[in-house]
Amino acid sequence: MHTKFYQMEERKVRVRFAPSPTGPLHMGGVRTALFNYLFAKKNGGDFLLRIEDTDQTRFVKNAEAYIVESLKWCGIKVDEGIGVTPEGPYGPYRQSDRKPLYKQYAYQLIESGNAYFAFDTPEELAALRTKGEQEKVPFVYNHKTRMELCNSLTLSKEEVEKRLNSGEHFVIRFKMPENQNVDLYDEIRKDVHFNTDELDDKVLYKSDGMPTYHLANVVDDYLMKITHVIRGEEWLSSMPLHVLLYRAFGWEDVMPKFAHLPLILKPQGQGKLSKRDGDKLGFPVFPLFWVGDDGETAQGYRENGYLPEAFVNMLALLGWNPGTEQEIFTMDELIQAFSLERVGKSGSRFDPEKTKWFNQQWIHRTSSSKLAEMFMPILKEKNISASTDYVVRVCDMIKERAVFVQDLWTNGYYFFEAPQSYEPKDVKKRWKDNAAEKIQATLEFLENETDYTSKVLEEKTMAFIAKNEFNVGQICNCLRLAVVGACMGAHLFDIFEMIGKEETLKRVRKALKNISVEE
Ligand code: GLU
Repeated sequence: MHTKFYQMEERKVRVRFAPSPTGPLHMGGVRTALFNYLFAKKNGGDFLLRIEDTDQTRFVKNAEAYIVESLKWCGIKVDEGIGVTPEGPYGPYRQSDRKPLYKQYAYQLIESGNAYFAFDTPEELAALRTKGEQEKVPFVYNHKTRMELCNSLTLSKEEVEKRLNSGEHFVIRFKMPENQNVDLYDEIRKDVHFNTDELDDKVLYKSDGMPTYHLANVVDDYLMKITHVIRGEEWLSSMPLHVLLYRAFGWEDVMPKFAHLPLILKPQGQGKLSKRDGDKLGFPVFPLFWVGDDGETAQGYRENGYLPEAFVNMLALLGWNPGTEQEIFTMDELIQAFSLERVGKSGSRFDPEKTKWFNQQWIHRTSSSKLAEMFMPILKEKNISASTDYVVRVCDMIKERAVFVQDLWTNGYYFFEAPQSYEPKDVKKRWKDNAAEKIQATLEFLENETDYTSKVLEEKTMAFIAKNEFNVGQICNCLRLAVVGACMGAHLFDIFEMIGKEETLKRVRKALKNISVEE
């Protein structure tokens, strides 16, 4: 089998991601794009983006822009095609813009005897299907039935001409060869065998000038000099037809290699991961927030506080494994390590908890200045203004514990505003045994201090506590309640330093006033 591809070895690797704009891009689609990208970059090749919008009934307006933005967010850089080189060198890259180009290929197949015109009306075909259902012999348009139907194989040449000239609606169907065993090779599934009798005479082209997916896909891969087709498993069943089309066109020498990626499975149970699973279990299945024309919305990883690095890292390990224990990968490391040989055959289960873990790992690894960039808009929404430098220092102190970007607020709000309330459980536990009196004394001490540098203030406060024979734990926890509102958060004296003397004193005074009232 491989010897047939000797010419391929000399060709520059060119792969494409070819989504149909039918709605928001599912994370399975992002993974397909990612594997194509990794494969291209690993092999010094090009990654193309082509939009397959021949099925206008399923067309969704915002979907293309969403695809482009999703890839950009993930750091999957397109070398050629939509959004980068709309015209050339092999453009246009949107199939609806290529419409006039497909006709000659459909007619080429008619001339070579590999396809035929069919005039059966949708009503006639529907009636045959209903009859098939009733008789429990499903209707299939194939070598068994085609000679009894209304097409250029059964009608006279003159009749066909007449119908074509009168503008009658027709389709062009592929004439599937009869009872041929065909052996195919898939880079992931290895040898695949089938018999042509298992397949039907697929529609390739319609008289409105629109090709169907199969024709447009094969013609475009050929014209765009694609060397490897890497796509989801759901397209495995189309591979025989596509290979037969390459043969029928006489393009077998430059036929791409095929690799069908395993499914991404539900966290529990069988089957493909769907939006419903996400809604039920509370995780997104789309990269970005989506709002459709119909107003329908869907959650996105970006808006839910995931970093693109974590999302990509998680996706890469769904179906591919590096063969080592390494789990954290940058994009460059993925490019270095990636190969189709290490993509498994069986589906991989999506794990939402592990996805959170990846995010936490990536938040730790991300520089505080980059985190601050993501945190600033959250602060702005809350009408909080803080200098970048201040926010970067906050990120430094609290990123350790954050799982999501928004945790920076949940775990660090007290760097920006005084607590609105005091955690009752902590108050009960700490604010006792004359706490108010002792905190009042500590407040007076703090009022007299001038150096609020964390280390200096800590040393002096400890000395003060020791001299008065107070309990360190009690005083620190009560002060923490005063500035944070609960017994949690960053190092106490770091907080004092960050918010400054005036704000510290204000919060301690407020706590003394409010907590004693609550008692
Ligand atoms: N347009 C197909 C899709 O929506 C592309 C399949 C392929 O890559 O050949 O996934």
